[in-house]
Amino acid sequence: MFVPNYEVKKQIIDLHMGEKVHYCYQCGRCTDICPVSELEPERYDPRTLVMQGLLGLSHMILQPDKQFNLWGCQTCDLCDEICPNDIVLTDIFTILKNQSMRMGLAPEAYISQAKMVMETGQAIPLQDAIARRRDKMGLPLIPKPNVKEIQKILKATGFDKKIGYEEPKEEKK
Ligand code: SF4
Ligand code: SF4
Repeated sequence: MFVPNYEVKKQIIDLHMGEKVHYCYQCGRCTDICPVSELEPERYDPRTLVMQGLLGLSHMILQPDKQFNLWGCQTCDLCDEICPNDIVLTDIFTILKNQSMRMGLAPEAYISQAKMVMETGQAIPLQDAIARRRDKMGLPLIPKPNVKEIQKILKATGFDKKIGYEEPKEEKK
C-alpha cells in the first residue's frame, strides 16, 4: 500500500504557516508564466509539482528516470511573483530538491557544480580569457574568493558529505 511522504508534506505546510499553501486552487498561472514549462510542457509543470508536494506524493516527483520534472526549475522566481495566493513555489521546490539529494537522485551536473564550489569557492571559476576581456572593457578585477573560508563554512553545514566530496589527495613530490 502506498503511504504519502508526511515528512515532505509537513515541511511544505510549515513553510507557509499552514495557510497560504492550502489555498493553491490549481489556477495554473504559475505554469502559464514558467519559461521551462513553455519549452518542455510534457516534462515540467510547477502547478502539478505543488499539488503533488502538498498531497505528499513525493514518489511521483522523485523518480530516478524523471529528474527534469523537479530539477528543470531554473529558480527564475516568475511563478512566485504571479501566484495570486503569494505561494513561494521555489521554497517548496527547495524542500523537494533537498529530499531528492538525500535520496541520491540529484542530477550529476548539479553535484559536479557543487563540488566545484567546494574546490574553488565558485560555481563557475573565472577563466583567464574572461578576465582579459573584462580588463579590455575597463571592468574591475573580480577578487579571488577565500576558498579555505568557504570550505570551512560548507563543511560546518555538512554540505561536503551531502555531495560526497572528497579532498583531492596531496601530490607526491
Ligand atoms: S499560481 Fe499559485 S494558486 Fe495558482 S496553481 Fe500555481 S501555486 Fe497554485
Ligand atoms: S522559478 Fe522555476 S517553476 Fe517558477 S517560473 Fe521559474 S523556472 Fe518555472
